[in-house]
Amino acid sequence: MTSTLEVSPAARRSAELDAEITADASRFRILTGDRPTGPLHLGHYFGTLHNRVRLQRRGVELGLVIADYQVLTDRDVADDLDAHVLGLVADYLAAGIDPQEAMIFTHSAVAALNQLMLPFLSLVTVAELQRNPTVKDEIAHSRQAGVSGLMFTYPAHQAADILFCKANLVPVGADQLPHLEVTRTIARRFNDRYGPVFPEPEALLSRAPLLLGTDGTKMSKSRGNAITLGATAADTARLIRSAKTDAQRHITYEPGTRPEVASLVLLAALCEDREPGEVAAEIGGGGAAALKARVTEAVNARMAPMRALRAELAADPGYLRSVVREGNARATERAEVTLGQVREAMGTRY
Ligand code: ATP
Ligand code: MG
Repeated sequence: MTSTLEVSPAARRSAELDAEITADASRFRILTGDRPTGPLHLGHYFGTLHNRVRLQRRGVELGLVIADYQVLTDRDVADDLDAHVLGLVADYLAAGIDPQEAMIFTHSAVAALNQLMLPFLSLVTVAELQRNPTVKDEIAHSRQAGVSGLMFTYPAHQAADILFCKANLVPVGADQLPHLEVTRTIARRFNDRYGPVFPEPEALLSRAPLLLGTDGTKMSKSRGNAITLGATAADTARLIRSAKTDAQRHITYEPGTRPEVASLVLLAALCEDREPGEVAAEIGGGGAAALKARVTEAVNARMAPMRALRAELAADPGYLRSVVREGNARATERAEVTLGQVREAMGTRY
């Protein structure tokens, strides 16, 4: 798990990037995405999805990869892939992504993208992959009896996802920072060895780079601790009631020493577009019960329009599928151009 010490320089850089984007959005191209392992949750929304929508509205070009091959990194079988893929598209559109502008694609459908992985793998050592903290964390939470070889290709595959379209900006949660470092390393080493082809992309963190789930660890699709975007108001209330807090009655916002309480305060603040310190001060002596009531109300109010739109979209799977097909065609065109440049640079055009 990424520590706060590692996060703060990245958070500082993210603030600078935000200013650069405001000055000239056309310099930036985003590629980010999700694994189709289940419906998106509030950690995704406030960790990256909200940023994607915000930046798209400011005019930054947006690519979203649905990382379907990577479902197999930590699962023996990819259950319900098709339904999860369409569910992700519904989540994106309900959150405000414009499918006319964004390129939404599944990486398994883009052959030329996957071909980039071989040269990329030659640019990182096994030791570098083994000591990658994101890989270690994913292995710790793996649902497999043994760790598959695919697990160790994960960072190089992600580099292919990001670099095939020459993206230079990646809005992610803090758990993905070590992965992004590998992408930067691969881009740099490729350019050094074969000539300049790739940008060195930078991470963009949100105000909630690591939202905690109801058990006090990173909110994750696969850990049973998540409040999904499509959850009902009643489910939301039940899940927040069960959330872990601590023994101190007075509510404060101290992420370093009271992470569970701070994450709940932050969640209410994000939903209300307020500062977490102010929200904590307002709850004060009300204790955990008042905090949870406030969070529940805030989440349900903020999510209600998105939930209604998501239900409408989910009723039209044909449309959702057409969005992916269109994105796959666009991504294939792009990936073929980049693969051509890579072949040129490597001297493998015969
Ligand atoms: P899984 O449990 O299957 O790994 P996940 O919930 O971790 O699922 P991913 O698809 O791995 O979701 O992550 C997609 C993106 O969302 C990444 O950029 C990741 O950093 C971000 N993200 C995921 N969970 C959180 C969270 N709790 N807080 C902030 N960002 C998050
Ligand atoms: Mg994950």
